[in-house]
Amino acid sequence: MAEELRINQDRLWQRLMRMAEIGATPAGGSCRVALTEEDRQGRDLFIEWCHTLGCEIRIDRMGNIFAQRPGTDPQRLPIACGSHLDTQPHGGKFDGVYGVLAGVEIFETLNEKNIETAAPLEICVWTNEEGARFAPPMISSGVFGGTYELDYGLSREDADGITLGEALESIGYTGALPCGDHRLGAFIEAHIEQGPILERQEETIGVVTGVQGSRWYRVTFHGQDAHTGSTPMEGRRDALLSAAQTINAVKKIAEGQAPSAVATVGRIDCLPNSHNTIPGEVALTVDMRHASTETLDTMETQLHEAASAAAQQESTEVEIQRIMNTPSVHFDTHCIVAVASAVHQLGYPHRRMLSGAGHDACHVARVAPTSMIFVPCAGGLSHNEAESATPEDLAAGANTLLYALIKLAR
Ligand SMILES: [Zn+2]
Repeated sequence: MAEELRINQDRLWQRLMRMAEIGATPAGGSCRVALTEEDRQGRDLFIEWCHTLGCEIRIDRMGNIFAQRPGTDPQRLPIACGSHLDTQPHGGKFDGVYGVLAGVEIFETLNEKNIETAAPLEICVWTNEEGARFAPPMISSGVFGGTYELDYGLSREDADGITLGEALESIGYTGALPCGDHRLGAFIEAHIEQGPILERQEETIGVVTGVQGSRWYRVTFHGQDAHTGSTPMEGRRDALLSAAQTINAVKKIAEGQAPSAVATVGRIDCLPNSHNTIPGEVALTVDMRHASTETLDTMETQLHEAASAAAQQESTEVEIQRIMNTPSVHFDTHCIVAVASAVHQLGYPHRRMLSGAGHDACHVARVAPTSMIFVPCAGGLSHNEAESATPEDLAAGANTLLYALIKLAR
């Protein structure tokens, strides 16, 4: 392999900017929520680019897309990269999209230089990674990796009662391939870090060795709707007050495991959400993360205790549902070494690190050797329209991915 082999930084950037035009938001971000018209347009554009590069496209029952560049040895399983094209409602230009379009740029570079690989190379696009429309997130890589059943995946509903299966059908992305039947020889997901560590340390590449575990809960307090003027403070059953105490407790639970635990209440549904009615029902989401299962168990117990105390305090009743449990993941040594040796060869400043956020790679790791590559993002900001990364860092990550894929596909 020639030492000067590099992807085209400008072309990668142009494609990222072109994709960001689909669902562009006034504040400079993108809104391509899963299985909307914008998501369909993003998928169509990706497939159009891949067809131009001579790829064969396969789509599975969960709408996951696999774009394959043939290898010289048809017996070999494909060596894959990729990520997701859906975004948060106020999403940025890079989260997920980067890992997919880095793959497209790599294929174009290899075509240009007439480089063949023994194993086929592949770009995966995983459906509904964000979970903004259909919970849980990473549902389709989850079905692919055997974490969830297909029926469970297809029956997830959005806020309007539309199932994921119906939404897939309506944008024309229900594929014929049974989800999970398509086997991968390896999977390497390139992604922006979504945290501040690389930027603070002035490092370009994160060699990601694993992902911390995360658990999601839905905590619902049942109180009683009543008139705000005529109901004395004494004897009220205000579900929002129970929720407020729980929100504070969640922060303390994470602080009790400092500095490595994080916990967040990100959403409140307050009923009837009216100025002059005491809230009779409030549901909130809790998201807790840590690398150790034991610590997550402790945090879960503390959440139950805190919510029960908050219910008792305000004479409400509480229901706690665990809606997602993603254990911590340790990536494949062989794939980690492929990324580490690629980054050594290229000479970029780097560190080994764990991912704070969950990724499709967590589920894929159950059925294929997997690892990840991180690049810095400005201020560590993500899930935000202002999400930003430099063309140089994005190119460095794509070069690292290129070298790692070539090593694995040899
Ligand atoms: Zn992502």
